[in-house]
Amino acid sequence: MGKARRKEKEGTESSSGDSKLYLEATVLERKLPEMDMRIFVDLPAGLDYNEWLASHSMALFDHVNLVYGTVSEFCTTATCPDMTGPGQRTYLWFDEKGKKTKVAAPQYIDYVMTFIQKTVSDENIFPTKYANEFPSSFESIVRKIVRLLFHVVAHLYAAHFKEVVMLGLHAHLNLTFAHLTALYHRFSLIDPKETEILKDLEIALRLTENSTEVVNNNEQNEVKDESSKSQPTEESSGDNES
Ligand SMILES: [Zn+2]
Repeated sequence: MGKARRKEKEGTESSSGDSKLYLEATVLERKLPEMDMRIFVDLPAGLDYNEWLASHSMALFDHVNLVYGTVSEFCTTATCPDMTGPGQRTYLWFDEKGKKTKVAAPQYIDYVMTFIQKTVSDENIFPTKYANEFPSSFESIVRKIVRLLFHVVAHLYAAHFKEVVMLGLHAHLNLTFAHLTALYHRFSLIDPKETEILKDLEIALRLTENSTEVVNNNEQNEVKDESSKSQPTEESSGDNES
């Protein structure tokens, strides 16, 4: 009971005081609500690990691309001069020389999608022919893909959730987020420091009910929740560097 009440309260305001529309109860639905994503991403016996990562990362790419594509007209250099995520997170792009550069969100996302499209179409990285094998660096490439897709999802929630709801795509976005979350948790693909900005949504969508933070006693957590509300947020971390 107490827990549920707290969840509702969390849903109405965020750490910085601005409202997080994506935490409101009316938009917390997702497509295929009964589906347990943890089972969905679990590697079936006898299946190749790289093959499994390849199919999930390609599916996620398609879904993120689809949702972003439908709201991309609202994501311009004027509306989104920075590549933002929730909690004032800003992502910087590493150019080919390894130099960090500030780019507008549509540009950043274009870089992300172009990079992933090029990568998944490369027969040397994502082999489709029977005789071809995955490169030894395959897992680290997948980590990068999954992390960049997480940035796009973070931007969709932070900057375009209103449009996503308007187009009736929030259940689809929530399902994509659930899939992404299950995948990176199962195979530890993203640093938790990157994903903490959407931890509140993970909890609201009940994707991490049995996570480690529930282990400690609840009363202490209650106090911790309050203090974490005023903590300053990082300005720029979690970019595309591999
Ligand atoms: Zn945008």
